[in-house]
Order: sequence, then C-alpha cells, then structure tokens
Amino acid sequence: MSNHPDIHVGIIGGGYAGMAAAVELAAQGIPVTVFESAKQLGGRARGVECNGAQLDNGQHLLLGCYRDTLRLIAKVGGDIEQDFLRLPLQLDLHGHFSLRAPRLPAPLHLLTALLKAEGLSWSERIKAARFMLALHGMQFRLPQDMTVAELLVKHGQDADLTLKLWEPLTIAALNTPVRKASAQVLLNVLRDALNRTRADSDMLLPRTDFTALFPQRAAAYVERHGGEVLTSCGVEAIVPMDDGIELVIAAGTQRFSHVVCAASPVVAAKLLHPITALENTVRQIEALEHQPIYTVYLQYPAHVALPHPMLGLHRRTSQWLFDKGRIAGQHGLLASVISAEGIHQELSQDELAHRVIAELREEFGIADTPSWFKVIAEKRATFCCAPGLQRPAQQTAHPRLWLAGDYTAGDYPATLEGAVQSGLRCAAALLQSTKS
Ligand SMILES: Cc1cc2nc3c(=O)[nH]c(=O)nc-3n(C[C@H](O)[C@H](O)[C@H](O)COP(=O)(O)OP(=O)(O)OC[C@H]3O[C@@H](n4cnc5c(N)ncnc54)[C@H](O)[C@@H]3O)c2cc1C
Repeated sequence: MSNHPDIHVGIIGGGYAGMAAAVELAAQGIPVTVFESAKQLGGRARGVECNGAQLDNGQHLLLGCYRDTLRLIAKVGGDIEQDFLRLPLQLDLHGHFSLRAPRLPAPLHLLTALLKAEGLSWSERIKAARFMLALHGMQFRLPQDMTVAELLVKHGQDADLTLKLWEPLTIAALNTPVRKASAQVLLNVLRDALNRTRADSDMLLPRTDFTALFPQRAAAYVERHGGEVLTSCGVEAIVPMDDGIELVIAAGTQRFSHVVCAASPVVAAKLLHPITALENTVRQIEALEHQPIYTVYLQYPAHVALPHPMLGLHRRTSQWLFDKGRIAGQHGLLASVISAEGIHQELSQDELAHRVIAELREEFGIADTPSWFKVIAEKRATFCCAPGLQRPAQQTAHPRLWLAGDYTAGDYPATLEGAVQSGLRCAAALLQSTKS
C-alpha cells in the first residue's frame, strides 16, 4: 500500500532524466508509471546491437564530478569501479599534444599537467596555466556570458593553444564549436571537474552499454518499489484537468495526480503546445538550436588496437578515438567520434567511414580492413550551448506538470549529469509541492 494514496506520477520518457526522477520518487514511496515510446530505455544514451556486437548510439564519457549520475547508478545496483574504466585526466592528440594529470591534489594536478604538457611551447604552457589561475581567482564566474572564443582571446590564448587544448575540451564538454559555445557553461564544468578533488577530473569510460548501465537497472528498482515502466508505449497527448492530468496513449487514457515530461525537447514542445498556459515554455524550447554527434564504429580483426583506450587526433575528421578492446574487452572494435557541426555532415555515411579508415591507416599504420562499419548520426544529439541561453525551468506554469531533460535550466551543458540533475530537481520539487 502506498503512503501517498492521492499521488500517482506519470513520467513521459525513459531516458536518464525520466529514470532519475522515477528512481527518486519511487524511493520515497511515490507510485510512478514511466512511459517510453521506444522499445528500449535510455533515449540518447542507449545500447544498440549491430552484427552481434553490443554498441551504444554514441560513445559516452563521464567525468568523476558527475556525482549525481554516479550516485544513482550505484543506488540501483551498479558498481562504479566495475562498470567503468577509470582514467586520470589526460588529453592526447596523437603525435601533437599530450597532457596528463599527476597524482597531486586539485588544482595543483592541472597546473602541473599544463606546465609539463608536450606539444606546447613554454610560453603557451605559461599562458594556459595563467588562464587557469585567473579563472580560479574569478571563482569560475563571468560577470557576463560570452563565447569561449571571446574568452580565450581576452586571456591571451593563441591559435595553437586553442586548437590543441581548448577547442577539443570545449567540443567534448559542450558539443558546440568555440565560436558559438557559452564560456560560462564551460567554466561551470571546469569548476566542478578541475577545482575540487582530483577524482572529479577522472574520465570514466563505460564497460557496459548505456541502457544496461542505468535505465534498465533503474526500471528494476522502480518495479521493486511498486512502480511500473512501460516500453513501446508513447504518450500522444497531455490533457490537464482540474485535479490531475490525463495522458493519452494508444491503449486509452490514464489519469495521474502529477506528470513529469522528460521527453526530448522536440517532442516536449509538441506535447506541451496545446496547453495555452505553457506558451512561453514552448517558445523557449522551440528557440533551442541543436548540434549533431556522429559515431563511426569499425570492427577490425581482434589483434588491432590503439596505443590508448581514448585518444584524439589533431586536424583530422575523427576527433576522438576509442578502443573498445581496451575499454570493454571488445577486441578490434574501434569508435571514432565527431562532435558538433562541421563539413563531415556533407559526406555520405560510406564516405565518412572510409575517411576514418584512411585516418587510422595514416596515423597508426592499421593496414587491415574492418569486416563491418556502422555510422550512427545523432543529428539532434544536444542543444547548441550558446551564451546566455534561456532554458526552460523544471517548474512550469501548470502546478502539476514538471519538465525534466538535459535542455532544462541548469548549470551543465547537455550531458548525462545535466539530465539526471533535472530529474532529481523535478522529484524534489514535486515532493515538496505535495507537502504544502
Ligand atoms: C551520440 C551522443 C554522445 C553523447 N556523449 C555524451 C557524453 O560523452 N557524456 C555526456 O554526459 N553526455 C553525452 N551525450 C548527451 C547525453 O546522452 C544526453 O544529454 C542525455 O542522454 C539526455 O537525456 P534526457 O533524458 O534528457 O533525454 P533523452 O535521452 O532524449 O530521453 C527522452 C526519452 O523520451 C522518449 N520519448 C520521446 N517521445 C516520447 C513520447 N511521446 N512518449 C514517451 N516517451 C517518449 C525517448 O525515446 C527517450 O527515451 C551524448 C549524446 C549523444 C546523442
């Protein structure tokens, strides 16, 4: 029997945001029903099967500072040290740049890494270290947001330093080119990753797929706590009533006391559009622009390996390469990630894959041919993280309807941590509203 007989929360979307809200509410004894339109949970971070190999829709990376995501994975039964390959902060652009954080307390580890970085001149290293000290002095807060490119110019970071260090870092963190990216949001990530404990800057590479990592375990947790999680069950309409909200699904209508809409921004805008009180929210969502992420998976013979589990390429189409053999025991499986907009979008999938194959041959002498490749193009992978962006709040003008998702208001760019935090915020505010 539920401790809250009048409350039943409907959650639209079984991605990281929706499942975070579901776990948090279920843990408090609140009955929840999650509706997921796809066959499997996970949304933009989901497992994909291809030629018998377990892939993801894109190679994801977590940072040690993603504390809420890591806490929730552990809460639903994950084991962080087994689920991830944990690497100390390192940035390698094969043959051009290498930065490795030594085992020193933060932020000394970063300053030492910058001062010892290979591939930069002495004056560039000092400029980069000075920049970090200046950000530290400003407590990573800008009086006014600007683009990352503008911030770099203001702090004397020249073109080579930008190309080798700040641009790859910005694209990895914000999935937005430096000329368009919000400096403040980048500083929020740097503040949390580089300025607290050394472990916050660790890079965590998943050994398991992203549906299994959290959403699937979260569904089992929700069900153990009396909730339900329905896949292949999309919500077609949200109908606000005086004392609740009805959700229309193919099989009929279900009534809830509260609803958390955790669908992607495009779907959320469509579902909210008919609700006149939410006009402003819909306008904010529709104003968001999006950025793509392309991932090219290549299955080489098992003996093929890269020198490191993850490394970058300088001035190539492939930005980051991942060796799934070193990360997850999938020997010979390599992934090339190309984040944010660019001329690669003009290539066909075959052309893109063959370009990556040529780069692997030229950079590492890999003469073998892959037995298969798979290009996964996520055209709306994340919102474009521009300066001063107005993101919709989790609380809406309707007192029983909440919004979760990586695009909703928060400190972080579109990341798993941003998505999870938004779900947790919805759960906390919804619980609070039921007490008042
Ligand atoms: C290729 C790629 C690589 C990425 N790399 C990283 C990374 O390295 N690190 C990182 O932190 N982040 C990364 N991200 C971003 C991260 O994946 C997202 O920020 C996060 O997954 C968003 O979660 P969400 O729950 O907000 O939204 P979504 O994952 O979009 O979840 C929304 C869910 O709603 C469902 N849905 C849609 N319509 C309906 C409907 N009508 N009814 C019911 N359900 C519906 C969808 O199927 C989906 O499951 C990456 C994203 C992509 C695409």
